[in-house]
Amino acid sequence: MPKYDIVVVGAGNAGLSAALQCQLAGRKTLLIEKHNVPGGAATSFVRGRFEIEPSLHELCDFGPADNPGDVRNILDAYGVKLDWYECKDCFRIVSRYSDGSPMDVTMPAGIEAFIDKMEVYVPGSREKMEQLFALFQEVLDGISYITASKGHADSKVLQADYPNMLRTGAYSTKKVFDALKLPKKCQDILSTYWSYLGVDMEHLAFIHYAAMVHKYISRSAYIPAHTSHQLSTAMTERFRELGGDVWFGCRAEEFLFRGDRLCGVRTNLGVIDCDYVLANINPDIIYGKMMPKELIPEREKKLSAARGRIMGGRMFTAYFCLDASPEQLGIQDYSIFLSSTADSAEEYRRIMGGTKTNDYSIFLCYNIANPDFSPKGTCVCSFTTFGAPDEWGRLSQEDYFKFKTDFAKKFLRNLKAKTGIDLTGHIEEMEIASPWTFARFLGVPEGSVYGYETRDWDGMMARMMMLGTDYPIKGLRPVGAAGPRGDGYSATIICGQLMAANALKDLKEWEGGNK
Ligand SMILES: Cc1cc2nc3c(=O)[nH]c(=O)nc-3n(C[C@H](O)[C@H](O)[C@H](O)COP(=O)(O)OP(=O)(O)OC[C@H]3O[C@@H](n4cnc5c(N)ncnc54)[C@H](O)[C@@H]3O)c2cc1C
Repeated sequence: MPKYDIVVVGAGNAGLSAALQCQLAGRKTLLIEKHNVPGGAATSFVRGRFEIEPSLHELCDFGPADNPGDVRNILDAYGVKLDWYECKDCFRIVSRYSDGSPMDVTMPAGIEAFIDKMEVYVPGSREKMEQLFALFQEVLDGISYITASKGHADSKVLQADYPNMLRTGAYSTKKVFDALKLPKKCQDILSTYWSYLGVDMEHLAFIHYAAMVHKYISRSAYIPAHTSHQLSTAMTERFRELGGDVWFGCRAEEFLFRGDRLCGVRTNLGVIDCDYVLANINPDIIYGKMMPKELIPEREKKLSAARGRIMGGRMFTAYFCLDASPEQLGIQDYSIFLSSTADSAEEYRRIMGGTKTNDYSIFLCYNIANPDFSPKGTCVCSFTTFGAPDEWGRLSQEDYFKFKTDFAKKFLRNLKAKTGIDLTGHIEEMEIASPWTFARFLGVPEGSVYGYETRDWDGMMARMMMLGTDYPIKGLRPVGAAGPRGDGYSATIICGQLMAANALKDLKEWEGGNK
């Protein structure tokens, strides 16, 4: 077998991004993927005459050509080209405010438009909203500085230039909102995005919230014209064009070491020699199953889910392919967040209580953003929520089909009750993906597609500042949703690039004799 400088294991967003970065830097890079298609969660599947998007609702930080976000810049630098659609509004939420009054709110993209609309729903909120957006901007600038410093940020620069980011960095989003004295109704509306990060506002690290929400609002959200499969195939093809090798159907089973330094990967297709591995795999699996225990430092063991971190969102999604157009069905919004209450901590408790108490879902109609998403006169919709780990862990194989189908039916009833939209009688194809599906397809523990919860004590700032200390195993770094940037398309694409840059730096140092 040929020897590679770098093997990237797993062709999810992070793995693809890492592979492109390594190959562009001139390193002989091999990308291996256990499936016969790239993308991980960024893929598609076909039922009847429909192609279904399994994960992507909307990608933030891409932006229009005249206001590009980091992801557009990264894809441009890689030379990855594809067609995109903008998802115009930010969201509609149908719920109840924390004081129990009914809530049906639609928020537009664009900072000014967002603040203006908030003023309509919550008169007198403008000044506080402007302060919040100024804070968001400082956080984003601070993150850019920390990212550029590759784990060696100067604390004096941080204190001088980004004092409010430091002040808010270890706090939950709720605490920062309260400190800013944001009106309660504003907080309720602003908490809509909590589920994109999978942590309720009382525990969600403010820095993650700020980074993601500012990007969605300031640059709008985008989706590829032909599902996220188009994104992953475009990245794979570009990697090949640059001279990279891709092996599908190749599963990494064990990482091999000479002394304390990685020297290869054992796979189902044989042993591959290499100097470095970037693994698009949850660290709990890497450390728990794929390498010698004696090489794992105590600190890494403490950071594992078994000892400290909390596994993030375990997804449940029901996909419906309908024989009627959105207009015929009365669907006008791209995404509608449906919940019992805008109090995210209460909502999270209900989700963790299991399918009986969980009324939370994000309803999506892809054809609103992309009218050509499915054959004329049809549309594709989905409902996404989270599973409670205990419940799905206890479920027997015999009960599985009925259990997941009953849960999916509950979403249809909720949608009808809350919006009047009735999909029953129009379902031509349907599919349900449970935490079991995601665990099996992606190999993520408990179906947790989001990696570890980005809680206040384990947020982006802590993770980014510790980049030089975390992942101390020589020649092996995990990449992906469990990494410093957390979950999501843009976060994992950025994470892949960031971790690849660190790997390239390590290799250069070792080659210079500084081992
Ligand atoms: C229903 C749903 C909705 C979502 N909505 C959004 C959204 O709207 N916006 C957004 O930004 N994000 C969204 N996400 C989150 C986003 O999809 C994920 O955070 C992101 O795709 C994770 O990427 P990743 O690189 O961590 O890896 P993954 O997608 O988990 O890919 C890992 C890859 O590694 C491969 N692999 C694993 N082990 C091995 C091995 N041993 N050998 C070889 N290959 C291996 C897997 O097969 C897989 O291809 C959603 C996710 C889901 C499930």
